[in-house]
Amino acid sequence: MIKRDDFVPDGVWNRFREISKDFPTPNIFVNLDIIGRAYNQLIETFPYGNVYYAVKANPGVPVIRLLDKLGSNFDIASRYELDKVLAQGISPERISYGNTIKKVADIAYFYEKGVRMYATDSKEDLKNIAINAPGSKVYVRILIENSSTADWPLSRKFGCHPDMAYNLLVLAKEKGLVPYGISFHVGSQQRDIGQWNDAIAKTKYLFQSLEEEEDIKLEMINMGGGFPAHYLQPTNDLSEYASEITRYLEDDFENVPRIIFEPGRSLVGDSGILTSETVLVSRKNNTSLSRWVYLDCGLFNGLIETMGEAIKYPVVTDKDGGKDGEVILAGPTCDSADIMYEDAKYKLPLDLKSGDKIYWLSTGAYTSSYASVGFNGFPPIKTYYYDSKAIYDENNNIVKELN
Ligand SMILES: *Cc1c(COP(=O)(O)O)cnc(C)c1O
Repeated sequence: MIKRDDFVPDGVWNRFREISKDFPTPNIFVNLDIIGRAYNQLIETFPYGNVYYAVKANPGVPVIRLLDKLGSNFDIASRYELDKVLAQGISPERISYGNTIKKVADIAYFYEKGVRMYATDSKEDLKNIAINAPGSKVYVRILIENSSTADWPLSRKFGCHPDMAYNLLVLAKEKGLVPYGISFHVGSQQRDIGQWNDAIAKTKYLFQSLEEEEDIKLEMINMGGGFPAHYLQPTNDLSEYASEITRYLEDDFENVPRIIFEPGRSLVGDSGILTSETVLVSRKNNTSLSRWVYLDCGLFNGLIETMGEAIKYPVVTDKDGGKDGEVILAGPTCDSADIMYEDAKYKLPLDLKSGDKIYWLSTGAYTSSYASVGFNGFPPIKTYYYDSKAIYDENNNIVKELN
């Protein structure tokens, strides 16, 4: 049985229950205070780092505004995210265009809006940047293989071999861009801290060889994301990550260059609770020991990261504590891929019935905007944000004042 208070303490839970009880399901409630604390903890553990929040993790306006107020910068992947962040009055100097896959028109758009820092990992993209964002800073993303210890790997599709990164940075200089640094992402929810060691070693080699052979002095390492949120599989504390990573940096660099982090999951993951309702509990034959539990949320409506059962969220109900049994958890749509957990063998109370609520903890990251627009007619899951004063919608309109 999953213990709710291992993930959400009583005070936070009771308040969440109180303020969320009248809202139709499925919904996600995001606790802004938890995000604020995660941000402050990150900058305390890495006092030398600059934070660029990966907006895709939770693009709600209340989150963007909070992190702006706390001093964060922003890592943006599309012109739509850019418009949203600029609309909050955030200066383009605090924005990095971190997507290596961009249309020419979008590069020009970012440049016109004042963005001067771009990620790349290919020659064609670099040439497009040189033409459409002349004189900008570029950093090259290197390829990292991490599929076994990251629960949501970001390998293969992004980054290039260090030899190619070398050539791209030389080309950047030739084309009048500023060869600024190296980036990598060791994979999201990366449980093996040693992955940063390998990546930093490759980065060091590039810094050194470019300086010695090409007189190119890189200034920045962008270490991406990868720090964990709290799901079922245990991870080290952030302080462990910090002491190890700091040691790797100090071992490899005499003078540690500017360090950027792009956290997403670790800042917002623990802030969310997704509430769903049990639609149906059934068995596929008369003697079957496991039940199918169908919910009003699913893989296409907030829980895409259960794909391949990759992220294992803590799931709790109001009936926890008595007898339980194995279940298969599935969503409401007419697609047989809409199954969250089958192999993971979650257990839920034996007296679970239609109408009972099921709470998915640690669902603040990669849930709210990661829903289909209307498959089978189901609208995207609603997300609410709250602090001590009010509940807000994703555009920061006040839904309800709190006292
Ligand atoms: C998604 C993403 C991040 C955030 O990663 P987390 O593991 O959620 O912290 C950071 N940087 C880039 C380039 C990304 O694509």
